[in-house]
Amino acid sequence: MRHTDAERPNPPEWEIHVMSADSSRPALLGGEPIRPQGPPDWPLGDETILDALREAYADGSWGRYHGERVARLEQQLAEMHGVEHVLTCGSGTFAVELALRACKVGAGNEVVMAAYDYVGNFLSVHAVGARPVLVDVDTENWNLAPDGLAPAIGSATRAVLVSHLHGGLVPMREIMELAGRFGVAVIEDAAQTPGARIQGRLAGTWGDVGVLSFGGSKLLTAGRGGAILTRNPATAQRARLHLQRGNHICPLSELQAAVLMPQLDRLAERNDRRLRSAEQLAQMLHGATGLIPFRNRPMQESLPAYYKMGFQYDAEAFGIGRERFVTAVRAEGIAFDEGFRALHVERSPQRWRGVAPLAQAERAHRGTLVLHHPVLLGSDEDLAQVARAVQKIRCHAPLLR
Ligand SMILES: *Cc1c(COP(=O)(O)O)cnc(C)c1O
Repeated sequence: MRHTDAERPNPPEWEIHVMSADSSRPALLGGEPIRPQGPPDWPLGDETILDALREAYADGSWGRYHGERVARLEQQLAEMHGVEHVLTCGSGTFAVELALRACKVGAGNEVVMAAYDYVGNFLSVHAVGARPVLVDVDTENWNLAPDGLAPAIGSATRAVLVSHLHGGLVPMREIMELAGRFGVAVIEDAAQTPGARIQGRLAGTWGDVGVLSFGGSKLLTAGRGGAILTRNPATAQRARLHLQRGNHICPLSELQAAVLMPQLDRLAERNDRRLRSAEQLAQMLHGATGLIPFRNRPMQESLPAYYKMGFQYDAEAFGIGRERFVTAVRAEGIAFDEGFRALHVERSPQRWRGVAPLAQAERAHRGTLVLHHPVLLGSDEDLAQVARAVQKIRCHAPLLR
């Protein structure tokens, strides 16, 4: 569809310089992509990983799943987080199920969780025979909103499952107070935020059980893998019993542990760099209508971690539908994606219970955009390319619709 100049909205000031500086056509319409090489790779090439692989090869541990590397990794994770018990397993999704079982969640129980969350968490609640109760999310970061908890907790509630998503942080102090008042367990899913700091504590250490993921795209990666963290010996023992039914049913291998340990050493430094990049990018995009980075409410001693950088996208204000935006920006070589599909929209109402309107989760369903993390370890120029791609698409929105 062609638009006359009269139909085209007046560009806001921040765009004007870009329009003159980069008036090239969008890659989607045959123009030159801003990043012809595409998004940066993950994982990074890294000598310390190569050394770990060589060692595992030399001593034969690459073929085993019982050995000292897994034990050493568990100990390092325990020390880093200041918890007594860490159990690794085959995936983050399985770790969530393990956490639920360790908290004695089972048939007939309910688990309160955000209506906007990783779908695997919803399925894990069902896997143990329980039912999710979905609550709304925060207006600014579309992560679980603590004020929705109290009305959702009933006599069948066994646990609250809290995920920190897309650079968002849930105020855990408030969650713990509420859960304590009602006597329900808290499972804290830190799959996207290893090493993040929330109100003075590391993510994953607030709840009765914390969950980590070592999936292929995650900040700590071994292709696959996960872990649970807990201070409670009885909780740890229940998890261990569930894992060891005759044999370890879903282990992390020695080879996976070998490549994870060097990454732990660099996590804090990399998280710090990603955080600075996210702040810088938010600055660069300041004033961009229709694309607002997730904002955490002010919390003391808190530092988010970025597996994805989340944005609230307003298609109307931006001038182009979200799916089309993603197609166009990816054609420029920038790794934006749509966020999760909200659980209350996607899943049959027989499979969950709700107690209040899920208006923000509805917005999150329609409007979440996420930027994949590797670019946040890049140069200033890499970040500027992200901003330029967004601006380019915004300028050409009428042509791209
Ligand atoms: C990735 C992820 C998990 C676990 O995923 P695995 O790929 O199974 O390791 C759990 N919760 C959230 C929020 C995640 O992003």
